[in-house]
Amino acid sequence: MPECLFCRIVRREIPATIVHEDEQALVFKDITPQAPTHLLVVPKKHLDALSASSDGDTALLGHLQRTAAKVAEAVKLSSFRLVTNNGKGAGQSVDHLHYHLLGGRPMQWPPG
Ligand code: AMP
Ligand code: ZN
Repeated sequence: MPECLFCRIVRREIPATIVHEDEQALVFKDITPQAPTHLLVVPKKHLDALSASSDGDTALLGHLQRTAAKVAEAVKLSSFRLVTNNGKGAGQSVDHLHYHLLGGRPMQWPPG
């Protein structure tokens, strides 16, 4: 069984503040929020990163984006940023695919 942090959160072995759950996805609050709203959109299936996905994951990836959009609407975010850090050089620190859903403050571009 995968021992990664987010797999353990999916299995409820580690607590998290969960705001949405369905068959394929879990959305919970980031433990170190970088914005007033900072949620993590996570597939229940373990994938190391977006680059580890395959064509067979296309529906799952679409589901994660739709889930992010629905959760953003539910928490009344009209402007938000949805981002994934793929690889250490991009800032990935947890090797289980996740999308950061950030909102509630002005966002800068380009990101750091
Ligand atoms: P990344 O650096 O893109 O891999 O994002 C990993 C995110 O997971 C960071 O924003 C962390 O703050 C967050 N994180 C780490 N541990 C936990 C945890 N136990 N519960 C919720 N979020 C976490
Ligand atoms: Zn995992």
